[in-house]
Amino acid sequence: MRIVFLGAPGAGKGTQARRLEEQNGWPQVSTGDLLRAAVAAGTPLGLEAKAAMDAGELVSDRLVMQLLGERLGRDDCDGGFILDGFPRNLSQARLLGELLERSGQQLDAVLMLEVDHGVLMKRLTGRRTCSATGKLLNIHFSSPEELAASRAAGGELIQRDDDLEETIANRLAVYERQTRPLLEHYSGLLRRVDGLGSPDEVSARVSAALEPAPGA
Ligand code: AMP
Repeated sequence: MRIVFLGAPGAGKGTQARRLEEQNGWPQVSTGDLLRAAVAAGTPLGLEAKAAMDAGELVSDRLVMQLLGERLGRDDCDGGFILDGFPRNLSQARLLGELLERSGQQLDAVLMLEVDHGVLMKRLTGRRTCSATGKLLNIHFSSPEELAASRAAGGELIQRDDDLEETIANRLAVYERQTRPLLEHYSGLLRRVDGLGSPDEVSARVSAALEPAPGA
C-alpha cells in the first residue's frame, strides 16, 4: 500500500510508521530523517536545509522534493511505502500527486493521528534518544526501568535540536497553518485514528483503520 501519515509533530507518526514497516515491509520514508541525514553528512542540500530546520520552519519544497524523488525511486518502494512527515503543505501534496501519476501510481490511504495539544507538548519536550542504544525514550512517559537500562548501557539522553520549547511552539504553529489544510485535500482517502494511549494500542487502531471497509 501507499500510505501517508498526517498528524502534528509528536503525534507518533514515526513510531507507527516504523511499526507498519516491520509488519508489512513497506518502507517508512521520513523526510525529517532524510533531511537530518543530509545535515549530518554535511551535503550542500543539508547545509541549505539546516537553518529552516533549527527554526522549526519548513524546508523549501525544492529541497524536500529532491530528497523524496530520489528515495521513492529506489526499488524497495516499488511495492508500497509509508510517508511520514510528507506532504507538509498543499503544494507538496500536489507535487506528490504529479510524481505518482508519472509512474502510474496512486495513494491508497491517508491516516491522521489525532492527539491533543497538551499531550503533544509533553511528548515533544520529553523526547530523548539514548546515545548508547539509539532507543527513543521520554523523560515523562518512559518507565523507570527503561531509563535505568539506558544509564546502565552508559548512554546519555540526547534531545533533538528542534525539540527545544521555543522551536516546538513554532513547529506546532507551522503545522496548524500549513499542514492541517491537507485534511480537506485528502478527505476522500482520510482515516482518522485516535493517537492517545500506548504505542501498542495506537498500532492496533492503525491496523484496523487499514482494513478494507466492509463490502468494499
Ligand atoms: P520531522 O522529523 O518530520 O518533525 O521534521 C523535522 C524538520 O524537518 C521539520 O521541522 C522541518 O524543518 C523539516 N521537514 C521535514 N519534513 C519536511 C517537509 N515535508 N517539508 C518541509 N520541511 C520538512
